[in-house]
Amino acid sequence: MRSIAILGATGSIGTQALDIIDRHPERFRAAVLTARSDWEGLFRAVRKFRPQAAGLVEEPPFVPEDLRGTEWFFGGDCSRRALEAVRPDDALAAVVGVAGLDAVLAALKCCRRVLLANKEALVTGGHLVKELAAQRGVPLLPVDSEHSAIFQCLEARGDNEIARLILTCSGGPFRTWERDAIDRASVSDVLRHPTWRMGSKITVDCATLMNKGLEVIEAHHLFGMPESRIDVVVHPESIIHSMVEFEDGAVLAQLGVPDMRTAIGYAMGYPERVPYGGERLDFAKVGTLSFGNPDPSRFPCYRLAREALQSGDASAPVALNGANEAAVAAFLDGRIGFGGIARIVEAVMNRHVPGRVQTAEDVYGIDRNARRLAQTEIERILK
Ligand code: NAD
Ligand code: MG
Repeated sequence: MRSIAILGATGSIGTQALDIIDRHPERFRAAVLTARSDWEGLFRAVRKFRPQAAGLVEEPPFVPEDLRGTEWFFGGDCSRRALEAVRPDDALAAVVGVAGLDAVLAALKCCRRVLLANKEALVTGGHLVKELAAQRGVPLLPVDSEHSAIFQCLEARGDNEIARLILTCSGGPFRTWERDAIDRASVSDVLRHPTWRMGSKITVDCATLMNKGLEVIEAHHLFGMPESRIDVVVHPESIIHSMVEFEDGAVLAQLGVPDMRTAIGYAMGYPERVPYGGERLDFAKVGTLSFGNPDPSRFPCYRLAREALQSGDASAPVALNGANEAAVAAFLDGRIGFGGIARIVEAVMNRHVPGRVQTAEDVYGIDRNARRLAQTEIERILK
């Protein structure tokens, strides 16, 4: 029986993880549940799973009488304080955005294993996270489907050198659209992802292809692979979740229906596989698997993310991520158009001045500055 903290328990990844716990009460116990503001959702989960501790960034107006057997923490550091109080075996970092970095660092200090969905924590604080994990001897298990696929392929690696990692990419809802049409896409066009159902921020990132750029950076940190040896292939069916090529040209792939519970369950149960009752892959029904190259001219965010990693400046991905989070929020609020996201990120990267990234405080400083620059750019667009 493993005790597990779900940080970001009310989100897309968090609720799917709770679904797996619900199916396997003999294997997992939810020990800590945290969320940002959805107190009704968190109350429901706490009522069902009865964790030792729970936390909300935004304090709710009240905590129901029947939920007071759980120890409650409120405020921006609720995940860290709940982890310190309970020290569960595992923590699943399913918070969205750079806001999750502190929780990931806290989990590395308090838990035996960290299951990482929160890619922005690696994109911004990759060196800090890797260093702390190595220092503490805490394994980082990827939850992002591409990285889980690579991790699974690497189980068959032996001592062999990896030639390259090949991340697959669905291409998002605008894969076949012209640049002008993409520029004018509406929020509802964007939220209609062809193969995956996810939280709204990552869904926007999938439409700009920023998500794939962030995933290249994530793979660089997780697998210690240089940018030049991480390729991306567009694969609209989302059946191959990613691949590893070896020196002799052999390519290993991990396949399955697009259902995040495979990747979440793999990290939760590792090294054992956990059945979750999902659909099985029917090859005849799938019929054809197709592949193509990503087009950086229609998806500039993808190019900008690769350039940030190529630059070798550790502060560049932090600025990229901060600008992107600010621009995506402005798009979802209806303040800017879809094409504005890439323009804002590009403008911020053009004005970015490299800074050192040795502590989490350094990350937050660069992040704040990028958001400030993004805000100026948003206001300029609005004029
Ligand atoms: P989501 O928006 O659905 O959920 C985010 C969760 O984090 C919510 O429970 C929210 O309350 C919580 N949260 C936000 N800020 C917090 C904070 N400061 N402290 C505690 N909780 C906080 O997002 P999601 O789609 O589940 O994505 C979560 C992370 O997983 C992201 O980094 C995303 O890139 C990654 N990811 C998601 C998917 C997917 O299928 N949804 C796939 C791969 C990777
Ligand atoms: Mg992914």
